[in-house]
Amino acid sequence: MSARIISGKEVAAQIREEIKAETGKLIEEHGVTPGLVTILVGENPASVSYVTAKQKTAKEMGFHSIQDNQPADIDEASLLALVDKYNRDPAIHGILVQLPLPRHINETRVLYALDPDKDVDGFHPVNVGRLMIGRAKFPPCTPAGIQELLIRCGTRIEGAEVVVVGRSNIVGKPIANMLLQKQAGANATVTVCHTRTRDIAFHTKRADILIVAAGFPNAVTGDMVKEGAVVIDVGVNRVGEKPSRKTPGKMVAVLKGDVDFEAVKEKAAAITPVPGGVGPMTITMLMRNTLLSAKNAAGAARTG
Ligand code: NAP
Repeated sequence: MSARIISGKEVAAQIREEIKAETGKLIEEHGVTPGLVTILVGENPASVSYVTAKQKTAKEMGFHSIQDNQPADIDEASLLALVDKYNRDPAIHGILVQLPLPRHINETRVLYALDPDKDVDGFHPVNVGRLMIGRAKFPPCTPAGIQELLIRCGTRIEGAEVVVVGRSNIVGKPIANMLLQKQAGANATVTVCHTRTRDIAFHTKRADILIVAAGFPNAVTGDMVKEGAVVIDVGVNRVGEKPSRKTPGKMVAVLKGDVDFEAVKEKAAAITPVPGGVGPMTITMLMRNTLLSAKNAAGAARTG
């Protein structure tokens, strides 16, 4: 059997159309334009490309978007003052501080300074707590993208054995937490594996839904997967370079996930590719959180 390929690219495009339409409606009916600021400190090339992609998508959604670039030597007090300025700016509904920050700045202090009601990345402890008790306001973007992909591709999550490989604060722990909630699109039985797990294959082979966020290629091979499982590969590993198809003379990264795609697709019922799987969903969920924050500000959201 060859697995159905779950296209995050297609699902993300569909959700972006929905966000665009809802944004238009919010502007028309409430006069509120969702506002997103991305704060970039320094010129780390990976961070520049992430922030550029977020800003480009925000503009496509019809958002009011600001890219605030700060020099690498900005001091912590000035950065905290900047965050405070956006916390108090009614035209801004989402604030994203691109990580990592330079070493002389305490990342935790900066993230904790964000107004939790504008923390559209969902990393502030208040939002982590809200998620934990099943009242997420801004679910973190990558896990939210995974859950949305599962729901939209018709996977039955309720009652499923879900195995997550990886327990990071940005992927493993939140997705495990989200899928075990007593809620629609969740209600799974969840196992989380990490480097101290005694026999990872024992667990992965039981999974109806296997979510892999381990951070290295081939962390999950064909023999570790049950026939008919749904496999979500979160990994993004740069394994080389190749000439760009779009720009002659330019080299682009060759990306690989954490799953041995070729072998696993012969056993799984469905699998996400890398690239084009979870990746496109992450930015889309950032846009959804920003729209939701703007709706809350306008009093137009169904949930608070
Ligand atoms: P991370 O912080 O490095 O965490 C990796 C996790 O995997 C840790 O919990 C680690 O266990 C566990 N692990 C490592 N080796 C293992 C092994 N041999 N067996 C079992 N568990 C193992 O990584 P992350 O930030 O969660 O990211 C994971 C992957 O997803 C990366 O490839 C990253 O690039 C990708 N990612 C993609 C997106 C996207 O939008 N597509 C977003 C975020 C991350 P310990 O806790 O015991 O160390």
